[in-house]
Amino acid sequence: MKALALTKAGDPFEIIDVEEPEIRKDDQVKIKIHGTGVCGGDLSDYLNPPVLKKESIILGHEYSGEIVAVGSKVNNLNVGDRVIAESSAGCEKCIYCRDGYTNLCLDRKGISGSYTDYIVVPARYVYKLPEQISLDLATLSEPLACVINALEKTKIRPGDLVVVIGPGPLGIFTSYLARLKGARVFLVGRSSSKKRLEIAKDKLNLNIINSDKINVKKYISDLSKYGAETVFGCAGSEQVVNLAFDLVKKGGSYIELGLFNASSQNINFEKIVTKEIKVTGAVSHRPDSWDRLLKLYQSGVLKDLEKIITNKYPIKDWKTAFENLKAREDLKAVLY
Ligand SMILES: [Zn+2]
Ligand SMILES: [Zn+2]
Repeated sequence: MKALALTKAGDPFEIIDVEEPEIRKDDQVKIKIHGTGVCGGDLSDYLNPPVLKKESIILGHEYSGEIVAVGSKVNNLNVGDRVIAESSAGCEKCIYCRDGYTNLCLDRKGISGSYTDYIVVPARYVYKLPEQISLDLATLSEPLACVINALEKTKIRPGDLVVVIGPGPLGIFTSYLARLKGARVFLVGRSSSKKRLEIAKDKLNLNIINSDKINVKKYISDLSKYGAETVFGCAGSEQVVNLAFDLVKKGGSYIELGLFNASSQNINFEKIVTKEIKVTGAVSHRPDSWDRLLKLYQSGVLKDLEKIITNKYPIKDWKTAFENLKAREDLKAVLY
């Protein structure tokens, strides 16, 4: 079968031929992949290819699909089940794993590679989808699980003022889920992400602020002279952090979901002290995030999020997909 991989000879990716995986252990399932969301992480590999230790790595981890075979000891999943799967696995032995924080495991390993036709994974990382959830919507599961993990870091109360900076998929999901908790949410982005802000507003009815056109600090302080109870950073930039420290109220929370490509030197730590800001990072997802995601799917409240998938490309057109994401033409692209 064909697979999109990061390779030593690639540009930086290429389509390679790989053997179709088969079930080798009795606790595994084989999934026919429906589609895979292109992650910001994949885009950053495209723009700044990492140095490879091995010949190639099949990319893609935000996938949904249908089970086509199950190992002899799998009893909770069946052929034909529509499923999603965790993209990484903890060692299941360390203090973090035993405490449910597999996202912090020292030995966490990727168990994905879904820009292809089939994947084989241990059944314990695979979740059956409720009937009403489409396989397209389900390609958003992995980033949604990340956002659920981030929301667990703060107590958002009904009526809270919440600001989310960075209108990519993570920022949009964060805004959407914070609103479900009863918060008054504002999603902030720049003109370079104009299209994304428009989609957030038109398709999901989110409040948006274009920070190139509106003075965000004034806008938020007009809403509340104390500032926002919680601010989420979904961009991984020091300007965003410093803006957030201005917007958050004293004693409020700042949660960072973005990865910083370079170490940031110019973050105003003084503000953390003088405003007693609670600063927390949120990385990846835990099994509990997936359990909660399934409950949200079951309740039907996430259905509209499918609207942020702006394009679907056959895997062979990967280059166009990545170029369009780079230009922020797409909000979320799916390769199939
Ligand atoms: Zn991802
Ligand atoms: Zn572990």
